[in-house]
Amino acid sequence: MSTSAGSLTNRRSTRQIMVGKVPVGGGAPITVQSMTITKTADVEGTLQQIYALAGAGCDIVRCTCNEIEAAEGLAQIVPRSPVPIIADIHHQYKMALAAMEAGVHGLRLNPGNIRRPEHIKAVASEAKDRGIPIRIGVNGGSLDPELYDKYGGKVTPEAMVESALREIAYFDEVGFDQIKISVKASNVPLMVEAYRQLSEVTDYPLHLGVTEAGPLPNGLLKATAGIAALLLEGIGDTIRYSLTADPVEEARAGRQLLEALGLRERKNVDLIACPSCGRAEIDVIDVANRAMQAFGERKIPLQVAVMGCVVNGPGEAREADLGIAAGNKRGHLFVKGRNVAVVPESEMVEALVEWAEFIHEHGAEAAIARVDTKIAEREAAKDRSMLLDAQGDDVNHSHDRLVEIRKKI
Ligand code: SF4
Repeated sequence: MSTSAGSLTNRRSTRQIMVGKVPVGGGAPITVQSMTITKTADVEGTLQQIYALAGAGCDIVRCTCNEIEAAEGLAQIVPRSPVPIIADIHHQYKMALAAMEAGVHGLRLNPGNIRRPEHIKAVASEAKDRGIPIRIGVNGGSLDPELYDKYGGKVTPEAMVESALREIAYFDEVGFDQIKISVKASNVPLMVEAYRQLSEVTDYPLHLGVTEAGPLPNGLLKATAGIAALLLEGIGDTIRYSLTADPVEEARAGRQLLEALGLRERKNVDLIACPSCGRAEIDVIDVANRAMQAFGERKIPLQVAVMGCVVNGPGEAREADLGIAAGNKRGHLFVKGRNVAVVPESEMVEALVEWAEFIHEHGAEAAIARVDTKIAEREAAKDRSMLLDAQGDDVNHSHDRLVEIRKKI
Protein backbone atom coordinates (compact mmCIF):
# COMPACT_ATOMS: atom_id res chain seq x y z
CA MET A 1 0.00 0.00 0.00
CA SER A 2 1.45 3.36 -0.91
CA THR A 3 0.59 6.54 0.90
CA SER A 4 1.09 10.17 0.07
CA ALA A 5 2.94 12.30 2.60
CA GLY A 6 0.73 13.20 5.53
CA SER A 7 -2.34 11.23 4.50
CA LEU A 8 -3.50 7.72 3.77
CA THR A 9 -4.84 7.43 0.29
CA ASN A 10 -5.05 3.73 -0.55
CA ARG A 11 -7.99 2.06 1.05
CA ARG A 12 -9.33 -1.35 0.31
CA SER A 13 -12.32 -0.93 -1.95
CA THR A 14 -15.63 -2.03 -0.53
CA ARG A 15 -19.28 -1.90 -1.48
CA GLN A 16 -21.30 0.96 -0.17
CA ILE A 17 -24.33 0.73 2.07
CA MET A 18 -26.47 3.54 3.47
CA VAL A 19 -27.21 3.81 7.17
CA GLY A 20 -30.02 6.33 6.93
CA LYS A 21 -28.42 9.20 5.03
CA VAL A 22 -24.86 8.22 6.01
CA PRO A 23 -22.87 6.21 3.46
CA VAL A 24 -20.55 3.50 4.76
CA GLY A 25 -17.91 1.90 2.54
CA GLY A 26 -17.30 2.41 -1.16
CA GLY A 27 -14.88 5.32 -0.63
CA ALA A 28 -17.16 7.28 1.73
CA PRO A 29 -15.43 9.09 4.62
CA ILE A 30 -14.78 6.69 7.48
CA THR A 31 -17.51 7.16 10.06
CA VAL A 32 -17.45 7.24 13.85
CA GLN A 33 -19.95 5.23 15.85
CA SER A 34 -20.79 4.92 19.51
CA MET A 35 -23.50 3.42 21.66
CA THR A 36 -25.81 4.93 24.25
CA ILE A 37 -25.64 3.56 27.79
CA THR A 38 -29.09 4.72 28.89
CA LYS A 39 -32.14 2.48 28.98
CA THR A 40 -33.56 2.88 25.49
CA ALA A 41 -37.04 3.13 27.02
CA ASP A 42 -35.84 6.40 28.62
CA VAL A 43 -36.52 8.46 25.51
CA GLU A 44 -35.42 11.87 26.81
CA GLY A 45 -32.28 10.57 28.52
CA THR A 46 -31.28 8.59 25.44
CA LEU A 47 -31.88 11.52 23.10
CA GLN A 48 -29.77 13.75 25.34
CA GLN A 49 -26.91 11.29 25.04
CA ILE A 50 -27.39 10.96 21.27
CA TYR A 51 -27.14 14.76 20.88
CA ALA A 52 -24.00 14.83 23.05
CA LEU A 53 -22.47 12.08 20.90
CA ALA A 54 -23.37 13.85 17.66
CA GLY A 55 -21.83 17.05 19.03
CA ALA A 56 -18.59 15.19 19.75
CA GLY A 57 -18.32 13.96 16.16
CA CYS A 58 -20.31 10.74 16.19
CA ASP A 59 -21.91 9.94 12.80
CA ILE A 60 -24.05 6.93 13.75
CA VAL A 61 -25.40 5.90 17.17
CA ARG A 62 -26.44 2.45 18.35
CA CYS A 63 -29.02 1.81 21.05
CA THR A 64 -29.82 -1.52 22.60
CA CYS A 65 -33.17 -3.07 21.75
CA ASN A 66 -33.48 -5.79 24.35
CA GLU A 67 -37.14 -5.52 25.34
CA ILE A 68 -40.40 -4.29 23.92
CA GLU A 69 -40.16 -1.04 25.94
CA ALA A 70 -36.84 -0.37 24.18
CA ALA A 71 -38.45 -0.85 20.77
CA GLU A 72 -41.24 1.53 21.78
CA GLY A 73 -38.60 4.03 22.89
CA LEU A 74 -36.86 3.72 19.53
CA ALA A 75 -40.09 4.64 17.74
CA GLN A 76 -39.93 8.02 19.51
CA ILE A 77 -36.14 8.42 19.42
CA VAL A 78 -35.55 7.79 15.70
CA PRO A 79 -37.59 10.72 14.32
CA ARG A 80 -35.95 13.15 16.78
CA SER A 81 -32.36 11.94 16.42
CA PRO A 82 -29.81 14.13 14.56
CA VAL A 83 -27.94 10.99 13.38
CA PRO A 84 -28.99 7.53 12.12
CA ILE A 85 -29.91 5.03 14.81
CA ILE A 86 -28.93 1.37 14.81
CA ALA A 87 -30.67 -1.17 17.04
CA ASP A 88 -28.43 -3.64 18.83
CA ILE A 89 -30.00 -7.09 18.86
CA HIS A 90 -28.73 -10.09 20.74
CA HIS A 91 -30.82 -13.09 21.72
CA GLN A 92 -34.33 -12.29 20.54
CA TYR A 93 -34.81 -12.06 16.80
CA LYS A 94 -38.28 -10.63 17.40
CA MET A 95 -36.62 -7.52 18.84
CA ALA A 96 -35.04 -7.01 15.42
CA LEU A 97 -38.48 -7.09 13.82
CA ALA A 98 -39.83 -4.70 16.45
CA ALA A 99 -36.88 -2.30 15.97
CA MET A 100 -37.47 -2.21 12.22
CA GLU A 101 -41.12 -1.46 12.87
CA ALA A 102 -39.90 1.39 15.10
CA GLY A 103 -38.10 2.87 12.09
CA VAL A 104 -34.41 2.29 12.90
CA HIS A 105 -31.85 2.91 10.16
CA GLY A 106 -29.90 -0.26 10.76
CA LEU A 107 -29.55 -3.41 12.85
CA ARG A 108 -26.67 -5.14 14.51
CA LEU A 109 -27.08 -8.90 14.89
CA ASN A 110 -24.71 -11.10 16.87
CA PRO A 111 -24.48 -14.44 15.02
CA GLY A 112 -23.28 -16.10 18.23
CA ASN A 113 -26.54 -15.22 19.96
CA ILE A 114 -29.16 -15.63 17.21
CA ARG A 115 -28.40 -18.99 15.64
CA ARG A 116 -31.57 -20.47 14.19
CA PRO A 117 -31.40 -20.09 10.40
CA GLU A 118 -35.14 -19.44 10.09
CA HIS A 119 -34.88 -16.55 12.54
CA ILE A 120 -31.85 -15.04 10.79
CA LYS A 121 -33.56 -15.31 7.41
CA ALA A 122 -36.81 -13.84 8.73
CA VAL A 123 -34.92 -10.75 9.92
CA ALA A 124 -32.92 -10.46 6.68
CA SER A 125 -36.09 -10.75 4.54
CA GLU A 126 -37.78 -8.02 6.51
CA ALA A 127 -34.67 -5.82 6.33
CA LYS A 128 -34.52 -6.38 2.59
CA ASP A 129 -38.15 -5.30 2.14
CA ARG A 130 -37.55 -2.19 4.23
CA GLY A 131 -34.13 -1.34 2.77
CA ILE A 132 -32.43 -1.47 6.17
CA PRO A 133 -28.77 -2.56 6.45
CA ILE A 134 -27.55 -5.12 8.98
CA ARG A 135 -24.19 -5.41 10.66
CA ILE A 136 -23.05 -8.94 11.28
CA GLY A 137 -21.39 -8.32 14.62
CA VAL A 138 -19.19 -11.29 15.44
CA ASN A 139 -17.76 -11.06 18.95
CA GLY A 140 -14.87 -13.23 20.13
CA GLY A 141 -16.46 -13.51 23.56
CA SER A 142 -19.79 -14.83 22.29
CA LEU A 143 -18.79 -17.03 19.40
CA ASP A 144 -21.17 -19.79 18.30
CA PRO A 145 -20.20 -22.75 20.59
CA GLU A 146 -20.12 -25.08 17.59
CA LEU A 147 -17.42 -22.95 15.93
CA TYR A 148 -15.57 -22.66 19.21
CA ASP A 149 -15.40 -26.48 19.40
CA LYS A 150 -14.53 -26.83 15.72
CA TYR A 151 -11.44 -24.66 16.20
CA GLY A 152 -10.10 -26.60 19.17
CA GLY A 153 -11.92 -24.83 22.00
CA LYS A 154 -10.28 -21.51 21.13
CA VAL A 155 -11.40 -18.24 19.64
CA THR A 156 -9.32 -17.96 16.48
CA PRO A 157 -9.39 -15.46 13.61
CA GLU A 158 -10.51 -18.31 11.34
CA ALA A 159 -13.45 -19.16 13.62
CA MET A 160 -14.56 -15.53 13.72
CA VAL A 161 -14.35 -15.17 9.94
CA GLU A 162 -16.27 -18.42 9.47
CA SER A 163 -19.00 -17.14 11.78
CA ALA A 164 -19.39 -14.04 9.60
CA LEU A 165 -19.36 -16.03 6.36
CA ARG A 166 -22.04 -18.41 7.65
CA GLU A 167 -24.28 -15.46 8.43
CA ILE A 168 -23.66 -13.98 4.98
CA ALA A 169 -24.70 -17.33 3.46
CA TYR A 170 -28.06 -17.16 5.26
CA PHE A 171 -28.52 -13.59 4.03
CA ASP A 172 -27.63 -14.70 0.48
CA GLU A 173 -30.43 -17.24 0.59
CA VAL A 174 -32.99 -14.45 0.87
CA GLY A 175 -31.12 -12.13 -1.52
CA PHE A 176 -30.06 -9.66 1.19
CA ASP A 177 -26.79 -7.80 0.65
CA GLN A 178 -26.99 -4.53 2.64
CA ILE A 179 -24.35 -5.83 4.99
CA LYS A 180 -21.43 -4.60 7.03
CA ILE A 181 -19.35 -6.83 9.22
CA SER A 182 -17.32 -6.70 12.42
CA VAL A 183 -15.12 -9.37 13.99
CA LYS A 184 -14.28 -7.80 17.34
CA ALA A 185 -12.23 -9.27 20.14
CA SER A 186 -10.71 -7.80 23.28
CA ASN A 187 -7.35 -9.27 22.28
CA VAL A 188 -5.74 -6.83 19.85
CA PRO A 189 -3.56 -9.20 17.75
CA LEU A 190 -6.52 -11.60 17.43
CA MET A 191 -8.86 -8.87 16.30
CA VAL A 192 -6.35 -7.43 13.83
CA GLU A 193 -5.73 -10.83 12.25
CA ALA A 194 -9.46 -11.62 12.06
CA TYR A 195 -10.14 -8.37 10.16
CA ARG A 196 -7.18 -8.97 7.87
CA GLN A 197 -8.46 -12.41 6.97
CA LEU A 198 -12.01 -11.15 6.57
CA SER A 199 -10.92 -8.37 4.23
CA GLU A 200 -9.34 -11.00 1.97
CA VAL A 201 -12.59 -12.90 1.48
CA THR A 202 -15.29 -10.24 1.31
CA ASP A 203 -15.79 -6.74 -0.02
CA TYR A 204 -18.60 -5.83 2.36
CA PRO A 205 -17.75 -2.73 4.39
CA LEU A 206 -16.06 -3.43 7.72
CA HIS A 207 -16.86 -1.94 11.12
CA LEU A 208 -13.71 -1.92 13.27
CA GLY A 209 -13.46 -2.21 17.02
CA VAL A 210 -11.64 -3.75 19.95
CA THR A 211 -14.43 -5.01 22.15
CA GLU A 212 -14.44 -4.44 25.92
CA ALA A 213 -11.28 -2.36 25.63
CA GLY A 214 -11.84 -1.14 29.20
CA PRO A 215 -11.46 2.11 31.15
CA LEU A 216 -9.26 5.06 30.22
CA PRO A 217 -6.40 5.33 29.51
CA ASN A 218 -5.62 1.65 28.88
CA GLY A 219 -8.81 1.07 26.90
CA LEU A 220 -8.00 4.00 24.69
CA LEU A 221 -4.53 2.62 23.95
CA LYS A 222 -5.79 -0.89 23.24
CA ALA A 223 -8.57 0.26 20.95
CA THR A 224 -6.27 2.68 19.14
CA ALA A 225 -3.63 -0.01 18.64
CA GLY A 226 -6.11 -2.33 16.94
CA ILE A 227 -8.14 0.18 14.96
CA ALA A 228 -5.16 2.27 13.80
CA ALA A 229 -3.17 -0.79 12.74
CA LEU A 230 -6.00 -1.80 10.40
CA LEU A 231 -6.75 1.70 9.12
CA LEU A 232 -3.06 2.09 8.23
CA GLU A 233 -3.40 -1.05 6.10
CA GLY A 234 -6.39 0.48 4.32
CA ILE A 235 -8.87 -1.78 6.12
CA GLY A 236 -12.03 -0.38 7.75
CA ASP A 237 -15.01 1.75 6.78
CA THR A 238 -16.50 2.71 10.12
CA ILE A 239 -15.09 2.55 13.66
CA ARG A 240 -16.19 2.31 17.27
CA TYR A 241 -14.16 2.69 20.45
CA SER A 242 -15.68 0.41 23.14
CA LEU A 243 -14.59 2.19 26.30
CA THR A 244 -15.74 1.82 29.88
CA ALA A 245 -16.33 5.55 30.02
CA ASP A 246 -18.84 8.22 29.09
CA PRO A 247 -19.68 7.34 25.45
CA VAL A 248 -18.80 10.92 24.48
CA GLU A 249 -15.18 9.84 25.08
CA GLU A 250 -15.67 7.12 22.48
CA ALA A 251 -16.94 9.59 19.92
CA ARG A 252 -14.08 12.02 20.63
CA ALA A 253 -11.49 9.28 20.42
CA GLY A 254 -12.87 7.99 17.13
CA ARG A 255 -12.98 11.42 15.64
CA GLN A 256 -9.48 12.32 16.84
CA LEU A 257 -7.98 9.11 15.51
CA LEU A 258 -9.45 9.67 12.06
CA GLU A 259 -8.25 13.28 12.05
CA ALA A 260 -4.77 12.27 13.23
CA LEU A 261 -4.54 9.77 10.36
CA GLY A 262 -5.76 12.35 7.87
CA LEU A 263 -8.86 10.27 7.16
CA ARG A 264 -11.35 12.93 8.21
CA GLU A 265 -11.15 16.67 8.00
CA ARG A 266 -10.18 18.39 11.20
CA LYS A 267 -13.18 19.82 13.07
CA ASN A 268 -11.64 21.16 16.26
CA VAL A 269 -8.26 22.52 17.27
CA ASP A 270 -5.41 20.03 16.98
CA LEU A 271 -3.32 21.09 19.96
CA ILE A 272 0.30 20.09 19.74
CA ALA A 273 2.81 20.86 22.48
CA CYS A 274 6.46 20.15 23.15
CA PRO A 275 7.19 17.53 25.79
CA SER A 276 9.09 20.16 27.79
CA CYS A 277 12.70 19.86 28.90
CA GLY A 278 15.32 21.69 30.88
CA ARG A 279 14.95 24.72 28.63
CA ALA A 280 11.23 25.22 29.36
CA GLU A 281 10.34 28.69 30.57
CA ILE A 282 6.83 27.73 31.65
CA ASP A 283 4.95 24.73 33.00
CA VAL A 284 4.17 23.38 29.53
CA ILE A 285 1.79 20.70 30.84
CA ASP A 286 -0.31 23.28 32.67
CA VAL A 287 -0.42 25.78 29.80
CA ALA A 288 -1.22 23.06 27.23
CA ASN A 289 -4.01 21.68 29.42
CA ARG A 290 -5.48 25.12 29.98
CA ALA A 291 -5.33 25.78 26.24
CA MET A 292 -7.10 22.46 25.55
CA GLN A 293 -9.83 23.45 27.98
CA ALA A 294 -10.15 26.94 26.53
CA PHE A 295 -10.59 25.60 23.00
CA GLY A 296 -12.92 22.83 24.21
CA GLU A 297 -15.33 21.79 21.46
CA ARG A 298 -14.96 25.06 19.50
CA LYS A 299 -15.13 24.35 15.80
CA ILE A 300 -11.75 25.83 14.91
CA PRO A 301 -9.95 23.40 12.58
CA LEU A 302 -6.40 24.70 13.15
CA GLN A 303 -3.20 23.20 14.47
CA VAL A 304 -2.11 25.20 17.52
CA ALA A 305 1.25 24.73 19.25
CA VAL A 306 2.28 25.37 22.86
CA MET A 307 6.07 25.40 23.13
CA GLY A 308 8.13 25.65 26.29
CA CYS A 309 10.84 27.98 25.03
CA VAL A 310 11.44 30.58 22.39
CA VAL A 311 14.89 29.13 21.71
CA ASN A 312 13.61 26.08 19.84
CA GLY A 313 9.80 26.34 19.96
CA PRO A 314 9.01 28.51 16.93
CA GLY A 315 11.33 26.49 14.69
CA GLU A 316 10.10 23.09 15.85
CA ALA A 317 6.44 24.11 15.43
CA ARG A 318 6.84 26.12 12.25
CA GLU A 319 4.28 23.93 10.44
CA ALA A 320 1.54 24.79 12.95
CA ASP A 321 -1.08 27.36 11.95
CA LEU A 322 -0.50 29.21 15.19
CA GLY A 323 1.74 28.78 18.19
CA ILE A 324 3.14 30.36 21.29
CA ALA A 325 6.57 29.92 22.84
CA ALA A 326 7.66 31.11 26.27
CA GLY A 327 10.69 33.20 27.06
CA ASN A 328 11.68 35.73 29.70
CA LYS A 329 8.20 35.76 31.28
CA ARG A 330 6.61 36.51 27.91
CA GLY A 331 4.71 34.54 25.31
CA HIS A 332 5.90 34.87 21.71
CA LEU A 333 3.09 34.23 19.28
CA PHE A 334 3.83 32.96 15.80
CA VAL A 335 1.61 32.31 12.79
CA LYS A 336 2.87 29.82 10.19
CA GLY A 337 6.35 30.25 11.70
CA ARG A 338 6.29 34.09 11.61
CA ASN A 339 6.55 35.98 14.88
CA VAL A 340 3.51 38.21 15.21
CA ALA A 341 3.10 39.37 18.81
CA VAL A 342 4.43 39.27 22.35
CA VAL A 343 2.11 38.92 25.36
CA PRO A 344 2.68 38.61 29.11
CA GLU A 345 3.14 34.99 30.21
CA SER A 346 -0.12 35.12 32.18
CA GLU A 347 -2.09 35.91 28.99
CA MET A 348 -0.71 33.18 26.75
CA VAL A 349 -3.86 31.05 26.64
CA GLU A 350 -6.24 33.98 26.05
CA ALA A 351 -3.97 35.26 23.27
CA LEU A 352 -3.94 31.86 21.58
CA VAL A 353 -7.72 31.69 21.58
CA GLU A 354 -8.08 35.23 20.26
CA TRP A 355 -5.57 34.68 17.42
CA ALA A 356 -7.05 31.28 16.57
CA GLU A 357 -10.50 32.81 16.21
CA PHE A 358 -9.12 35.58 14.01
CA ILE A 359 -7.21 33.15 11.76
CA HIS A 360 -10.24 30.87 11.50
CA GLU A 361 -12.37 33.79 10.40
CA HIS A 362 -9.95 35.78 8.23
CA GLY A 363 -7.05 33.46 7.38
CA ALA A 364 -3.37 33.37 8.36
CA GLU A 365 -2.30 36.01 5.83
CA ALA A 366 -4.74 38.55 7.24
CA ALA A 367 -3.54 37.73 10.76
CA ILE A 368 0.07 38.37 9.79
CA ALA A 369 -0.85 41.53 7.90
CA ARG A 370 -2.55 43.13 10.90
CA VAL A 371 0.71 43.50 12.85
CA ASP A 372 4.26 44.70 12.36
CA THR A 373 6.06 41.36 12.40
CA LYS A 374 9.45 43.06 12.63
CA ILE A 375 8.75 44.22 16.18
CA ALA A 376 7.69 40.73 17.28
CA GLU A 377 10.70 39.16 15.56
CA ARG A 378 13.06 41.59 17.24
CA GLU A 379 11.56 40.87 20.69
CA ALA A 380 11.73 37.12 20.12
CA ALA A 381 15.36 37.39 19.01
CA LYS A 382 16.14 39.42 22.12
CA ASP A 383 14.61 36.83 24.49
CA ARG A 384 16.17 33.98 22.54
CA SER A 385 19.66 35.39 22.83
CA MET A 386 19.08 36.33 26.47
CA LEU A 387 18.16 32.70 27.20
CA LEU A 388 21.05 31.35 25.19
CA ASP A 389 23.42 33.60 27.08
CA ALA A 390 21.93 32.49 30.40
CA GLN A 391 21.61 28.80 29.60
CA GLY A 392 23.99 28.27 26.75
CA ASP A 393 23.51 25.67 24.03
CA ASP A 394 24.02 22.98 26.61
CA VAL A 395 21.09 23.65 28.90
CA ASN A 396 21.18 20.20 30.46
CA HIS A 397 24.84 20.74 31.37
CA SER A 398 25.86 17.51 29.71
CA HIS A 399 29.35 18.84 29.09
CA ASP A 400 29.92 19.52 32.82
CA ARG A 401 28.46 16.14 33.67
CA LEU A 402 30.79 14.40 31.25
CA VAL A 403 33.76 16.10 32.87
CA GLU A 404 32.56 14.89 36.28
CA ILE A 405 31.96 11.37 35.00
CA ARG A 406 35.41 11.20 33.46
CA LYS A 407 36.98 12.29 36.74
CA LYS A 408 35.46 9.21 38.36
CA ILE A 409 36.85 6.75 35.83
S1 SF4 B 1 10.49 23.73 22.74
FE1 SF4 B 1 12.07 24.30 24.19
S2 SF4 B 1 11.22 23.62 26.16
FE2 SF4 B 1 10.07 22.55 24.60
S3 SF4 B 1 11.15 20.60 24.36
FE3 SF4 B 1 11.94 22.00 22.78
S4 SF4 B 1 13.78 22.90 23.73
FE4 SF4 B 1 12.56 21.98 25.39
